[in-house]
Amino acid sequence: MCGIVGVFGIPDAARVAAHVLQRVQHRGQEAAGIVSADGQYLSRHRGAGSVTNVFNGVDFALELRGNAAVGHTRYATAGRGGIARRERGSKRGIQPLIDDSRVYQSAYAHNGTIPDAEAICMRLEKEGASFASLSDTELFLHFTKRSGKETFSDRLLEAFAQIDGAYSLLVLTPDRLFAARDPHGFRPLCWAPYQGGAVVASEGCAFDLLRIDPKTVVEVEPGTLLEFSPGQIDPRIIRFAPAAFTRFCSFEWIYFARPDTFFGGRSVSAVREDLGRRLARRFPAPSADLVIAVPDSANSHAMGFAEESGLPFKIGLVRSHSVGRTFIDPGEEKRAAAVRLKLNPDRGVLNGKRVVVIDDSIVRGTTTKEIIVLLRRAGAVEVHLRIASPPVIGPCHWGIDTPMADKLIATKLSKEQIALFVGADSLEYLPIEELQQALNDPEGKRHCLTCFNGIHPTKS
Ligand code: SF4
Repeated sequence: MCGIVGVFGIPDAARVAAHVLQRVQHRGQEAAGIVSADGQYLSRHRGAGSVTNVFNGVDFALELRGNAAVGHTRYATAGRGGIARRERGSKRGIQPLIDDSRVYQSAYAHNGTIPDAEAICMRLEKEGASFASLSDTELFLHFTKRSGKETFSDRLLEAFAQIDGAYSLLVLTPDRLFAARDPHGFRPLCWAPYQGGAVVASEGCAFDLLRIDPKTVVEVEPGTLLEFSPGQIDPRIIRFAPAAFTRFCSFEWIYFARPDTFFGGRSVSAVREDLGRRLARRFPAPSADLVIAVPDSANSHAMGFAEESGLPFKIGLVRSHSVGRTFIDPGEEKRAAAVRLKLNPDRGVLNGKRVVVIDDSIVRGTTTKEIIVLLRRAGAVEVHLRIASPPVIGPCHWGIDTPMADKLIATKLSKEQIALFVGADSLEYLPIEELQQALNDPEGKRHCLTCFNGIHPTKS
């Protein structure tokens, strides 16, 4: 999961991109970068850390000139068979990646993963290609460059025909911006007109910052390529795959996206509240005194649970906002330490109370265990854990760094054993059919549910 941003036809585009990039910071915190275009040349600034850290003090007028820009916040996935992780700490894989050859100047910002990238890269290397990074994204660059087609859009289309996987992709050339979503639409992408130009971002909530009317925000259709050109207000839209086979990531609804984002006209926070209400109906905790959330990602789910069950919703865990999301913080020890750094229990709320704790999911179980230790130490006498998604039993091959199946706690232990492991008095998960109903997809045909059913979404 990464955050991507594109700005086209707007003065000081890189500065606008940096602001919008902060609004998708939750999608990746390892590194950030922006490439700008001034009609002739591309310029790049990138580095490790948050958007603020990387762009603090940057002279945009000097370093990142031009009326167009693409930006990226990085969350390094396994990529190319796990080897992309080796680039953590190195600048090589920090996006946007650039092809700075005279003929094919272009920059690439990618959210997603190409599962068979390693095999394709090895084949291309045998044919003489040389890769500058270990990132899947470089495949787009190579295929575009190798294409014999005349126009850049045709080269991109030829690249897409050879790449199967998850991609929401932005490509910047000196005078054009391209935005594309893979045929399954695993990851989100939307755009809106802005000040005579356009802005593109992973999530529509990013546009609120620019006071863009939400009614003007358009989702990029899966299997389409948008081409923004100088002097044209609306992009040219090229469909390169049939519309009927979407597999949008269900975890975007549950956890990844910001609650103030809308997908398909539906509010993410409203869907999360609905998940919480469904959980309360299926698995109430009538003996409890209050409901708390694991903040911030489970806030909306917990509010729905509390509303449905008639129990008071309290803030029992206080979150320090200077610490990022623990799930996407690489490394297990770092994650456990980050829980303690990030969350502090409020003894005044918890002491002597029977508590329902709502979380969005359990992946490895180590974070949950750490949280329940905190609650007990703060005096909670009973801890009833309710999870607003089904057990996670399948690793992700489409852009999320969930561990392999043998590291997922629900593949190894029963529900009762997990409750014992994490120290909960009771544990219940939202059944998968409730999730599908909440997503208005009762047959599970429009979403990827691999995390929860282990079924390959493009083969079902
Ligand atoms: S496997 Fe899970 S995280 Fe990955 S795309 Fe599917 S639902 Fe989303």
